[in-house]
Amino acid sequence: MSARPLVFATRNAGKLRELRELVPEVEVASVDEAARRLGRDIPEVEEDKPTFLGNARKKAMEVALATGWPALADDSGLEVDALGGAPGVYSARYAEELFDAGQGLGKDEANNRKLLAALAAVPAPAQRSARFRAVLVLADPAGALGQEVLVAEGVCEGQIAAAPRGAGGFGFDPLFVLPDLGQTFAELGSAIKAVRGHRGQAMAALRPRLLAYLASC
Ligand code: IMP
Repeated sequence: MSARPLVFATRNAGKLRELRELVPEVEVASVDEAARRLGRDIPEVEEDKPTFLGNARKKAMEVALATGWPALADDSGLEVDALGGAPGVYSARYAEELFDAGQGLGKDEANNRKLLAALAAVPAPAQRSARFRAVLVLADPAGALGQEVLVAEGVCEGQIAAAPRGAGGFGFDPLFVLPDLGQTFAELGSAIKAVRGHRGQAMAALRPRLLAYLASC
């Protein structure tokens, strides 16, 4: 491994898998791999900013400072129009209370269950419009970027299904339908998600600058 590989500033296994698939040509370490290699803990980052950009910037900066390596962070979430844009930046902990109640539900399952309940009075598919948004930030305060960051955003429009469908993906994927294909991201799989999804679009926008920066390091 090179002296300063790129580290993905996430502990979300689904995001990590997708990010690796989106830049297969880049040597990448997870936070856990970086911690093992450096022989020290890398603290959890508190996501307390009100925007995707703010949280992504904070995660990238803190992990880059903790490792001394360039760090790429993804902050993302689901914006549902009938819910005034919720859960938005709070997507990961949308159903925290259900999860904490210890009903044996996983986080994703609890989030999906709460979302379906919140939309129970909105049955028409056209009224269940929503979008996934992802902001990617590359930070490298120990390198040529200094206090600057590279930023890209991706958005994917869709609708919330009446019930979960499909076994792929993570998070809200079993409920997120691409209307023109009539299937959820969990049914469509990672190859289509890489092209149509918010994370894939953000990476497509960042890719030339990311690769040029890493080549110059
Ligand atoms: P973050 O770690 O604060 O960025 O939280 C992201 C959360 O948004 C995840 O835990 C999911 O609930 C949701 N999310 C973001 N991207 C996706 C995706 O690609 N598929 C499904 N859910 C996603």
